[in-house]
Order: sequence, then structure tokens, then C-alpha cells
Amino acid sequence: MYMLKVAKFGGSSVANAEQFQKVKEIVLSDKSRSIIVTSASGKSDQNDSKLTDLLYLLYEHYKYGVDAEMIIDKISGKLSSIQKELNLSSKLMDEFSDYVESISSRTHLDEIVSRGEYFTAKLLSEYLSYYFVDAKDLIIFNYDLSLNYQAMEERLYKVLRDTPKIVVPGFYGSLPNGDIKIMDRGGSDITGSILANLSNASCYENWTDVSGILKADPRIINNPKQIDVITYDELRELSYMGASVLHEEAIFPVKEKNIPIQILNTNDPTNKGTTILNTVETERKQEITGIAGKKDFSIITIFKAHMSNERGTLLAALRVLDTYQLRVEHIPTGIDMFSLVIETKHLENSLYEVLGKLQEACNSDRIDVVHEISLIAVVSRFMKQKTGMSGRLFGSLGSKGINISLISQTSDESNIIVGVNNEDYDKTIQTIYHEFEGGVA
Ligand code: ASP
Repeated sequence: MYMLKVAKFGGSSVANAEQFQKVKEIVLSDKSRSIIVTSASGKSDQNDSKLTDLLYLLYEHYKYGVDAEMIIDKISGKLSSIQKELNLSSKLMDEFSDYVESISSRTHLDEIVSRGEYFTAKLLSEYLSYYFVDAKDLIIFNYDLSLNYQAMEERLYKVLRDTPKIVVPGFYGSLPNGDIKIMDRGGSDITGSILANLSNASCYENWTDVSGILKADPRIINNPKQIDVITYDELRELSYMGASVLHEEAIFPVKEKNIPIQILNTNDPTNKGTTILNTVETERKQEITGIAGKKDFSIITIFKAHMSNERGTLLAALRVLDTYQLRVEHIPTGIDMFSLVIETKHLENSLYEVLGKLQEACNSDRIDVVHEISLIAVVSRFMKQKTGMSGRLFGSLGSKGINISLISQTSDESNIIVGVNNEDYDKTIQTIYHEFEGGVA
């Protein structure tokens, strides 16, 4: 069977020389780990900084003409300590100095910030004796920022034909005119996923500093259980609702080709971590896959007599939201009313104007607004086969005196979302977790 793995290492996995050694052991212990993607070197302790953060700062210094020597020393110190401790050649430090010389106030943010991944990947490629391939020659965006899969496929094919073992910097690619374009923060996950898609990898390994994905936020639940297997769709729901292990956009390229993702721990490489698949055989023992949530939503409720017998009121409201480029998360409906659930931060500057326009467009009798609402998603692929789960969920919250202000479940029954007051956020997650996973709330 064709075995090629893409292994992506996050910033903490390449934070210092000791971490580089762990990465080398992992990579060399499995011959099929052929495409290695790296983030920029991250924080090695509390007093250290991420290369990417330092580079954002460096850009600001140049932009405003402020002396940048201190920042440059920090960046070069981070790179050179890895280079020296691992006995790598000093050519890279010369390249770094030349690069710094070439920066001016006109240098683009994307180019400067991408150098974190660039220089980290250069160090790693030398250390592993794997070939360095610049992401600007491999990850190609169109001007509308969609990805040019055809161009990328052709380029990767040529690279792998000549050099089967490569290291690629994550987080950036290039536009058709050759300019560097960075992705969102955490974007190296996406680079790894794209390369797994293009190479038809047998697996996409995402190496980080936690052993897989947890069933709930460990800041809220003491020692939550680890998720062994999860589907892409479940993970998408959990990450959209705030669980942050993998960049949410990283799911799509591998999902398209049904390539499993494994979330693994560089500091505990024998832990099986979490495997993400398209479909998972149902295990009877398990009930929920995970819980995640986000705070600070607003609910705008529009009341209008006879609304249920008329057409167009909802459409008119959505048009107003569209004008203000507001994303609506949920639309619970009643007979002569409906609610719009929107993240409060998006309404900060425009709330009263939006309410006025909604009143006008819907010709409503009344509009109510509530703020400080949290949405909590309980994700489970088992919900479909099991009855009584929602009963238990709502019953457990009721018994703890938690008021639910919104309930949402789509007909695929992959999750239930409840809205509660921000102040009940932790208690709600704890109550649900303990109802389904045991332990004391
Ligand atoms: N270095 C970038 C960041 O800090 C991208 C990444 O790590 O994936 O966000």
C-alpha cells in the first residue's frame, strides 16, 4: 500500500534545540514521514516569545521608523541558539542578516511575518537532512485567495519526483505575481492539510504539545477525558464553537480525500492521541464526543402580529444584517416572532442603527435585545441512535437551576446547542460533562 505521511509540527515542537531533537527522533522513526511542515519556532518558556509575534513587532518598528535592534537581536538569538546547539552551519545566520539588511519601511507585512516559518524550516531541513522547499513555490493562491490546486499539484509532483523527503514552511504561500501571502494565525495546520491532499497522503499527522483533543476545556473541567476518535464533522463543530487544537480550515482539504488526521504530542510520542476520520463505527459505551462553547452573543427578537401568515419579514431582516455585514449564528422562530443570534462584538458600533433599520424593514411591533449570552455545543454522533439524551441534558441543567434561553438542534442530530447567561457558562459545561461522563459536578 502507498504510504506517505505528512507530519506538521507546531511552534512548541520547534521552540528550542531540545524540541528539534524530539522532532528528529519522531520523523526518523517512520520512513513514511516524507513531507514535514513546520510552524515558526514558538515559546520555549514563559519569558520567551514566538518568532511570529516578534516578526509582527519587527514590521511595526519598520513601518513607524522606530529602532528595531532589540527585536532583531531577539529573533536572531532564538535562531542562532538552535543553530549552535545542534551544530548546524552558520550560513543560515548570514542569510538572516542579509534579509534584515534588505528590509525597509516598504517591505510587506506578509513577507516579514512569513520569515518565522521560512528560517525555522531551513534549520529543520538541515538538521533532518531533508530537502528544503519554499512554500512560496508550492502553496499557490489565486488573487481571490482561493487555492490554485492544479498549479500546486503540478509543482508538488515535480518536487517529489526529484526529492522524496522534504521540509516545507507552513503558514504562507504566494500570489500569482509571486508576492508572499500569509494565512490566518495557526495557518501551518492548513499548509499541512493542503499538502496531505495534494500528495494523497495515507495520514496527516499534526504534532503539537497536547495528547490529542479533550472532551472539554481543561480550564473548566478538571482532567477531562481524551477523545480517541472523532469525525471531521464533529471536529468542525467543536472547533467552530471554540475548541482550539487544529485550525478549523485545516479540515476541508483532507476531508475531501478522506485522509485521516492524527493529533499527536511531540513530548509524549507514544500516546495514541486523537484520530479524525470521515465515519466512525459506533461504540456503544460512548455518549457524547465533546463539549465546546463561546461567550458573548446577543439575541435580537423581533415581534410582529400575524407574521406567521405573511411572507418576507425574515428576508427583510436578513437583508438588513447583510447590509451591515453581520453574520447570524442561529434563527430560532416562534409563531409571530423570531430571534437573531449574533456575536456581540460585531454589533458593538452599529447596534442602535441596526435595530432602527430592522424596525423599519420588518415593520415590527416590538424588538427585544439580550446580551451576555453564551452558546454551548454538545457534539455527539451517537445522538441519532439514542433516545433520551436531550431529556437528560435539559434535566441536568434544570436541576442545577440553570436557565436556558435558546435551544437549537439540526435534523442531522449531530449536536445540541444551548444558550445560557455568560455567568452560567462554566457551570453549564461542568453539569453537562458530569451528566454524560461521570464524576462530580
Ligand atoms: N506561526 C504562525 C502563528 O503563530 C502560524 C502557525 O504557527 O501555524 O500563528
